[in-house]
Amino acid sequence: MMAAPGKRPVIAIDGPAGSGKSSVSRLLAQRLGLDYVDTGAMYRAIALAMRDDGVDTGDDEAVRRFCSGALIEYSATDGSVSVNRRPYSGKIRTEDAATLASVASQKAPVRELLAGYQRSLGVRGGVVMEGRDIGTVVFPDADIKFFIDASPEVRAGRREKELQAHGMDEPLVSRDMEERDRRDASRTNSPLKRAEDSIYIDTSSIGIDGVVEAMLQMVRERLHA
Ligand code: C5P
Repeated sequence: MMAAPGKRPVIAIDGPAGSGKSSVSRLLAQRLGLDYVDTGAMYRAIALAMRDDGVDTGDDEAVRRFCSGALIEYSATDGSVSVNRRPYSGKIRTEDAATLASVASQKAPVRELLAGYQRSLGVRGGVVMEGRDIGTVVFPDADIKFFIDASPEVRAGRREKELQAHGMDEPLVSRDMEERDRRDASRTNSPLKRAEDSIYIDTSSIGIDGVVEAMLQMVRERLHA
């Protein structure tokens, strides 16, 4: 769908962990002067908050109760995220948080809460939003959609570097990452899948800068068509 004249675009970027989607989304947003919204950070934060509050993710009623009263806040200015006014930004970049997020994200009340909040952040346009279901569920009418992918080996290597960059020296267990990928792709609620009208980019053998340049070109062509 084309952005109405004067309305700034919504750019949806989906793909698995380690595909390079976070780096390209952040750079693309910077280059276009749009807000960058990292929806994975929200899933990680809410999963940690549920654990802190002793909510058993296997207990559907407890999850529903928690979500019905939860306040989630994300700042596109600095990427900070809080749940019920408790800051989580410093805690979300661990393997533990990723695993908790991939379990919590299967729950319908969690997805409804976060998808609703994400829509509110993008409703006036002007965002590059990245996640697993942005082009399929959150913004099916996004102005342009990308699906960013890479081979499993490349993805595991990138995730390891990402953890090191965040000061985590825990080893990446690629089996855990495969398990999370499997959960994300096979869950009933909003599974990770490519939107039919998305542009597929395999970043295995292209540098991030090259990918961003190609995406910029496509965005400009699409929005000025
Ligand atoms: O992108 P990131 O690795 O931070 O996401 C962590 C987890 O959050 C994913 O494995 C996935 O289970 C969940 N997620 C999701 N939908 C999104 C973003 C993340 O289910 N839009």
